[in-house]
This record gives sequence, C-alpha cells and structure tokens, in this order.
Amino acid sequence: MKLFNEMINHELFPFRESEYIRWYPKSLREPNFELLFNGYSLNPSGIYIHIPFCDKICNFCPYNKRLTNQTLIYSYVEALLKEIKNYTFMIENSDIKFIYFGGGTPSSLKPSDIEKILININDNFKVNADVEVTLESHPSHLTIDFLKEVKKIGVTRISTGIQAFDDTLLKSLGSQHTSEQAFKAIENTSKVFGSVAIDLLFNCPTQNLNNWEKQLETATKLPDVDHLSCYSLILPSNEVQPSKFEEAEMTLLMDEYLSEKGFTHYASCASGGFDYSKDGYQCVYEKSHWSAPQAEFLGLGAGAMGFVGNTATVNGLNINKYIKILNDGYMPLVSTSYTNEEELLRRHFVLGVKTLKVDFNKINFSNNYIHEFFRKEFETLNDWGFINVDRSSLILTDLGRMYVDSVSAMFFSKKEREVAHPEEPEIREIERKVYNNYKGSIKATL
Ligand code: SF4
Repeated sequence: MKLFNEMINHELFPFRESEYIRWYPKSLREPNFELLFNGYSLNPSGIYIHIPFCDKICNFCPYNKRLTNQTLIYSYVEALLKEIKNYTFMIENSDIKFIYFGGGTPSSLKPSDIEKILININDNFKVNADVEVTLESHPSHLTIDFLKEVKKIGVTRISTGIQAFDDTLLKSLGSQHTSEQAFKAIENTSKVFGSVAIDLLFNCPTQNLNNWEKQLETATKLPDVDHLSCYSLILPSNEVQPSKFEEAEMTLLMDEYLSEKGFTHYASCASGGFDYSKDGYQCVYEKSHWSAPQAEFLGLGAGAMGFVGNTATVNGLNINKYIKILNDGYMPLVSTSYTNEEELLRRHFVLGVKTLKVDFNKINFSNNYIHEFFRKEFETLNDWGFINVDRSSLILTDLGRMYVDSVSAMFFSKKEREVAHPEEPEIREIERKVYNNYKGSIKATL
C-alpha cells in the first residue's frame, strides 16, 4: 500500500508512460560501409534472428510480420543463411552465448529450417557450450512432436505468447488461440523442456483487477512456469483501456503477487514490460543485450536490430526486398549508427537501467567521470526517489522499478530526446532511400 501511494502521488504520475525505449541511440543513419565493415572488429556474443511470419495478425501487435506463407519462408531462410555468411568475414572473434529467434512467430518455421539456421551458425561462429537458444512460439504450434524435434536440434528454451487464460479476453485481443490451447502448450512444454517461459498482457480493454489477479494465479499454479514477462498493453488509442490509476493498481498487484510466489523482478526490457523469473531462470538474452555493458550481438532478418562494433544496426522491414538484396550479394542494412564515447556512456545507462542496476566498474568509464557526467541526472532521480547511487553503482528503488522508462529516458542526450523511437514509419522512410540505391553502398565483400 505504501508503494502504491508513493507511485500514484508522485509528481510524475500523470506522465508515467512507457517511453517505448527499445533502442539507443534512436537516430537512424544511412549505412556507412567504411565504418561498419572496415573500421571495427566485430566480437559478437549473441545473435538475434527475426522471423516475421504469423498464422494470423493480432490487432495489438507492433512487430514486423506478415501472414505465414511456406514458399516465402523457404526463400527467407535461404536469405538468412546468406546474411549469416556475409557477417563471417568481418568477425574478429565470437563466443555466442545466446541465439534468440524472435518474431513474428518463429515456431512457424519447420524444425528442419531452424536446424539449417543453427547448423549454419555453428559452422561460422564459435558457439559457447552453454549457449541459450530461445524459440518464441505460438501456443498452437507447441505439440509434443514439434517440441521434441526442436529440442533435439539445439533449442534450449521455449517462450510462448499466452497473453491470457481467458477466452473472452483472448478474443477481444484478436489472438488466434484459445485458453485450452494455452494450457496444452504449457503442459507439453513442461513435459519436454521441464521449464516454460510465458508472456501475459495486462491493462487490456475490459480487464479489471480481479481478472488480472486470476491470470496471475493461474500462471503461477502451473508446473514449470518459471519465467513470466508481463506487458502493459499499449494501444494507439487508449480510450478503451483501464484508467491510469487502474493500470497502476494492476502493476502493483502483479509485483506483490509474483514476489510472494517466489518470482523476482529482474528486468524491464521491453517498454511497459516486467520480466520475472524464479531463481536460475533469468533469460540470458534479456540480461545481456540490455545490461551495462551491452553484449555485442548480430541482428539478422527483416527488421532486426543489432549492436556490433559499437554500431547499432537496423535491417529494412520489407521481406521481399530483404530476400532480393541478399540474393544480389548485398547487406539488407538500412541504418548503422556508430556510437561515439558520449553516446556509448548514455547507452549504458538508457538500456542498462532496464536490468535495474548499473555497475560502474563493469563499464569502460571511470567512476569519477560517470558521477561528473551524470551529476544532474543522478540528483534529480535521487530526489524523485527512483535510485540509490553510490560510488560504483546505481540501483533502482522499488518506486524506480515502477518508473523504469522514466529513469531510462533521463539519460538521453538532448538531441536524442527529440528523435522519435525508430518504429515502422521511421524505418520505412530510411528504407525507401537506402533500398532504392542499395547497389551503391552496402555490398557484402565475400
Ligand atoms: S502472433 Fe505475436 S507477433 Fe504475430 S501478430 Fe500476433 S502478437 Fe504479433
């Protein structure tokens, strides 16, 4: 109750939004072939692969996707293999600790396609013996046979978008699975993997506090659900959603309930998201590509974002063009933003606070410099009750965890604050320019 009162009475409460920060720096910059490929050595420790296919399009979804089409999937996978190959010539060293198939719906691939991709990665990179290989999956795909096959070829973790255990709610969200399929998917994953990561949505139209509590109760009673990512639904127009006050109640209820059930809030990676896990089940991918320092990782596939050689990379969204450009021997990059020293330090904090702590001794800047550089930001966040900062670390308070996107936004440079987060319209705009002239600048040099 104390935390709830602090949260709703805070001067920032009227502005408590999800900032939609998934990326920093946010500016898109046309690819600089010289800088990306010749100036820096790349040492990735992870790979993100975007699979932009879904059996049905859900109306709340902001990700790059289109309807599943097996002929197109075949060409897409072939193009992905070329993209993997293109990167190999510029890698100095690699120690791949995570491979993350995100989407879209990666489980729309056949296990044989996933296997092709994994074999290709193993042939071209040094893959760590303990690599985490996550497959985001639709509940309706999680049959025992499918799960056994993907486990056999190297997938170690299944993350599935359950969203809710309530058919009325699922229907209102436009989800194409039922609660029965959700239960079956979890049961099957538990049998084959012994561990299940699920996503739930709250702040949904027509949802109230009781309904949200029921979803949490159901999730935590199921065996082997040891990782829960809960997202506050963000709709373009929030008129039909619960009020700000109700959303705050749902957030606090979730935090208290899950903590009582043995889950720890360890990160808030996606905007409006809260990642909870039982001991030993934190997601390597979530932790490494946000925490400070961020892991270097390749972003492969249409619309994927990566960070290698101090450069934030963005691939174009258009799937047919992605395939064509790779077939023509070019790279599908539409933006490569090199991060200078200042932007890198800011990036460590903008993204690092999403894992609720920044350890200054782990990043390549002296403690004195960090304190001097962020003096005002630390003072303000401290006054707001969001952080505890000492000589060598910044840790979010419980109140700060509830305002994590505001904490993150505090570390933007003035210039980046004014830039829109690269969402579809911004990426489409730069994509048009770059892809119209792709033969001029981004040829792979294999
Ligand atoms: S299945 Fe997932 S990725 Fe596909 S449209 Fe629905 S929410 Fe988006």
